[in-house]
Amino acid sequence: MISLDEIRIESSASYTPPEQRPSWLPGDAADLGDRPAIGIRLGDAAFRVVEGQASGSLDEVGGLLVGEVLCWQGRLYVDIEQALAGERTRAGPAHITFTAETWAALLRRKERELPAKRVVGWYHSHPRMGIFLSDLDLSLHRHFFPQAWHVALVINGQDHKAGFFAWSGETIQPVPRFAWSAGEAAGSRFALHLGEHPFGYDRVPARTGTQRAPSRRRKRPLTSGR
Ligand SMILES: [Zn+2]
Repeated sequence: MISLDEIRIESSASYTPPEQRPSWLPGDAADLGDRPAIGIRLGDAAFRVVEGQASGSLDEVGGLLVGEVLCWQGRLYVDIEQALAGERTRAGPAHITFTAETWAALLRRKERELPAKRVVGWYHSHPRMGIFLSDLDLSLHRHFFPQAWHVALVINGQDHKAGFFAWSGETIQPVPRFAWSAGEAAGSRFALHLGEHPFGYDRVPARTGTQRAPSRRRKRPLTSGR
């Protein structure tokens, strides 16, 4: 058994994000709002993993968010490029418990599959619940994700709602706006969508730009009637 205290998000403590303008940043950086003082882009590929896992389970599920961190004009910018789904969670409908083994396995997988990328946060689902961080979620965030660029994504895959939380000084606050590059895979890489908190979504954009055929294994389709 590994103890939770033994798990650390590797090397983050000594990391200084490079000073560089994010290529995905809208023309006017103010579009992302000014609180918390962090700019977030949610990549299509990452959201696909998160949404697929969350909509497919009535138990809480979760995992790691992986990508890049840049600093530009005094502000941090986080690009969430990939999500790694946790597998060995001990979960029920009301609470997720990431075990030490879950974290260890996720971090090993991150080093193996995405060695050049950085852990930028975590996500978990709130099946048929609101978008908030519970006391347990907050203590987990404080313990594992203390860096200024560490964000938390909460998603309700049944009602198609989600929201980000990030450090604002010593507190963890909802992120009112972020950039969402849905449509990236269809070729419009820089087509940004500015989300609200919590943001609603109709469906995950199909990878090819054409509508995805409904899966027979799903009890209900991703779209809700529209
Ligand atoms: Zn939670």
